[in-house]
Amino acid sequence: MSNNKYKILVVEDDRNIAYFVQTLLEANDYQVITAERCQQGVLMLSSHVPDLVVLDLGLPDMDGEEFIRIVRQSSMVPIIVLSARTEEEDKVSALDLGANDYIVKPFGTAELLARVRASLRIARHHAQSATGDGSFVLDDLTIDYDRRQVTVAGNGIHLTQTEYNILAYLSQHVGKVMTYSAMIRAIWGTEDNGSVKKLQVNMANIRKKLGCHPGENKYIINELGVGYRMPDIEE
Ligand code: CA
Repeated sequence: MSNNKYKILVVEDDRNIAYFVQTLLEANDYQVITAERCQQGVLMLSSHVPDLVVLDLGLPDMDGEEFIRIVRQSSMVPIIVLSARTEEEDKVSALDLGANDYIVKPFGTAELLARVRASLRIARHHAQSATGDGSFVLDDLTIDYDRRQVTVAGNGIHLTQTEYNILAYLSQHVGKVMTYSAMIRAIWGTEDNGSVKKLQVNMANIRKKLGCHPGENKYIINELGVGYRMPDIEE
């Protein structure tokens, strides 16, 4: 990697945090560019074309969410949100706008590095699967999109239409936290009072059919109060 480093744009107005993140990433062989303002970040994104963005949500010139909205009009670059706020709705709306992952401040070095590695891997995975053969593999789980067939360790799993749609949807966004409302819109088109419950019931059935024991997160991680995520294979 030494002559072809991943380039990471850090958009953060708190200089201590920006310095901490930059130092950590550079020590781990990433190239880092930094911006303290959204506007500057947007400009650097188009001039430097980074592989990943680490974004603070609270920035002086505009909200980090506005940054995501602007960036997503033209770029699918992975975005990891740094949130000082613990309110669920900030994380959720950032994810709904197209952020890939979030970290709540204060965070540790191992956590940040793990999230960065995972997001970069997912981006590579998507680049590869764009030319793939219409199937998805995660450990011993296989989804054949053309035949709408799911197998675990070679054994066929019988899923209902809805269960299949949920599993396929998560697999198509592997590694990314998908919020309840994003999933409900994708699966049922509309949201009503019972939607989250309906999603959770389907999810419980999917886990059971895939052979997961209660509390086990082999194929689907429960992001409490936010949504679900299918883990990338190396997590
Ligand atoms: Ca800030």
